Amino acid sequence: QVKRNGRSGVAHFDPAQEREMGERRRMELDLRRAVSEESFTLVYQPQLDLQTGRTTGMEALIRWENKRLGRMVPPSQFIPIAESCGLITLIDLWVIRTAVERMRAFIDAGIEHPYTSINLSPISLAREEIVSQLIHALKRHRVPPELLEIEITESVAITEKELVEKTLLAIQKAGIKVAIDDFGAGHTSLAYIQALPINRVKIDRSIINGIGRDESTHAIVASIRDLCGRLGLKLTAEGIETAEQWEELRDLGAIEGQGYYLGHPEAPEILLERLQGEMPSGSLRPGAATA
Ligand code: C2E
Ligand code: MG
Ligand code: MG
Ligand code: MG
Repeated sequence: QVKRNGRSGVAHFDPAQEREMGERRRMELDLRRAVSEESFTLVYQPQLDLQTGRTTGMEALIRWENKRLGRMVPPSQFIPIAESCGLITLIDLWVIRTAVERMRAFIDAGIEHPYTSINLSPISLAREEIVSQLIHALKRHRVPPELLEIEITESVAITEKELVEKTLLAIQKAGIKVAIDDFGAGHTSLAYIQALPINRVKIDRSIINGIGRDESTHAIVASIRDLCGRLGLKLTAEGIETAEQWEELRDLGAIEGQGYYLGHPEAPEILLERLQGEMPSGSLRPGAATA
């Protein structure tokens, strides 16, 4: 996380701690090189209208293979490191450029509305320049801003709430959509939905897990659905892994879905094939799933 705890005031480290710090330091250096060499890739996970089974959009998720370790390092591991060592915004900017460029490629391949969401760190969203950088990328590739959605998680304590709020407003004003990610996981609260300018709520998979298992989860999701309906927000359920979960969420209505049962994150070529397979009627229409 952002704060580097336990640094000051600690005079001695045991060997295990030292090894850990060494590995962390090496990881930072690896990341720094990965940023300058742009050795990341994006995979895409479809988002579906649960009623019709049609693809309504896709989320771009970053992947990084650490050459030194010879393995993929999951974003849950390297994003927090990038956030704490000042690299996150460079990574987020790479994601913006690459995702928007890919949207243009989808359009050129005949997908009229390649509705795409990307994850941006609150740290990047506290920088005002991010707005013009987003707009610049969209203009450059002639992509309509309405096709892009920004997902924000309150994974790090947002210290500059006012700035983030201001940026999100400017992002919305530019026509870009905003989603609250991982809703219901730890940090994100109702106050958040109220305070931030948003268009969509994504229910965290830790909640969706309980769907089909306990009554209370069903009730909670139903009330989030009602709340979003009243506030005019779209709703997505994350982490749908079984047919039972899909059926139950489909019957709740007005919810879009994402999860391994509906589609794994895949290379963009695979997503393109999937979308072309759904055409002509299935070409992505933003918000097709919600009333
Ligand atoms: P997220 O934005 O909530 O993304 C959803 C994560 O859940 C992804 O993990 C996805 O692969 C995984 N997932 C999707 N469906 C299922 C399912 O049915 N079951 C299970 N168990 N998992 C599922 P991933 O790709 O490892 O990303 C983890 C987190 O890292 C993301 O959570 C997001 O917060 C962050 N992240 C990913 N890509 C980026 C990026 O480009 N920039 C930034 N700043 N953060 C990113
Ligand atoms: Mg996300
Ligand atoms: Mg997240
Ligand atoms: Mg999420």
